[in-house]
Amino acid sequence: MQTAVLSREEKGRLIAEKPNQIQRMDERFYKVASQSDHGMYDVVRRENGAWICGCFDYHYRQVRCKHIIAVQVSLKLREHVQARVIEPITDVHACLFCKSENIKKDGLRHNKYGDIQKFFCKDCGKWFTVNFGFERMKHNPQGITTAMQLYFSGESLRNTSRSLRLLGVQVSHKTVFMWIKKYTALMEKYLDKITPQVSDTWRADELFLKVKGNMKYLYALMDDQTRFWIAQEVADTKFTADLRPLFQSGKRIAEKQPKTLITDGAPNFHEAYEQEFWTQKIATRTEHIREISFDGVRHNNKMERMNGEIRDRERVMRTLETTDTPILKGMEIFHNYIRPHMALKGRTPAEAAGIKVEGENKWVTLIQNASRKYPAKR
Ligand SMILES: [Zn+2]
Ligand SMILES: [Zn+2]
Repeated sequence: MQTAVLSREEKGRLIAEKPNQIQRMDERFYKVASQSDHGMYDVVRRENGAWICGCFDYHYRQVRCKHIIAVQVSLKLREHVQARVIEPITDVHACLFCKSENIKKDGLRHNKYGDIQKFFCKDCGKWFTVNFGFERMKHNPQGITTAMQLYFSGESLRNTSRSLRLLGVQVSHKTVFMWIKKYTALMEKYLDKITPQVSDTWRADELFLKVKGNMKYLYALMDDQTRFWIAQEVADTKFTADLRPLFQSGKRIAEKQPKTLITDGAPNFHEAYEQEFWTQKIATRTEHIREISFDGVRHNNKMERMNGEIRDRERVMRTLETTDTPILKGMEIFHNYIRPHMALKGRTPAEAAGIKVEGENKWVTLIQNASRKYPAKR
């Protein structure tokens, strides 16, 4: 009768690969969804390292059951993705695209900072330079990325342009804005494909911003543990905006849904929650916690801190022409990949979520890698 029966190993792996089956209570305590009913089994790692499970299979047969295997597999998967490193591109002895060493020097590109050697790959037919990612720019990577750092740290476009003059980079604030738009769009395309390993508790909140003098609402979805800013949505109204797209983006980007969602209790948060996160089955359902303020004091502390970070930007927002400018996305990239957080012991949210960006200048590393993935048309 036993045809095509899966081994415990295979069953455990399947559970680990399915979304929302494993709930992490702490480092040694997990809950794993029963595959036959709506219950959850407690899976615990003892002091001596041995794993135990509350299921029948474990107790009756004293074996490593599929729930234990599922937790072990998911921990391994997590370790694996935690090793994700985005490295700077420094090697020009091989093709940046196909790694072939069959490359030749192909003339010089001139700009005001001197001559930049061009290379041609005889195998894949692509050109590249040592200034990879910045080939078409009149200015050097240092100037461009310094501009982005200043702007997203809270300087206005005009102040940024003034500070750049001290570095010998003469550009108008309009050029600074153009750089930010161009490179944010490129980085967004690249980073959008990378999955952060976020925790099971997410927070959603709205932040005010002004676009051409009009009040808009920026909705942000953020991971509680890593502070990773998962998704954003801009709306014209506060209590009635449709927030389903915010939660849909969150699920797509994190490749899961949270166990717990914390909001300020606004009705549109709850509506979107019911449609995107509520499920019939308790094991897969997200719990919605509404941190409603009674005395005007908000308890959504981590969001409050982020609010401050974004409010610094408010005066700059006044110059925004439309809400679909990449500036808001740039703030998200700065928050996740560039800015170290005290609460994360000096790490970035991306590092806490398993994505490490190497190099002296993280902006350069991100732009190089994005350019390699999405080369500019020649
Ligand atoms: Zn079990
Ligand atoms: Zn090549």
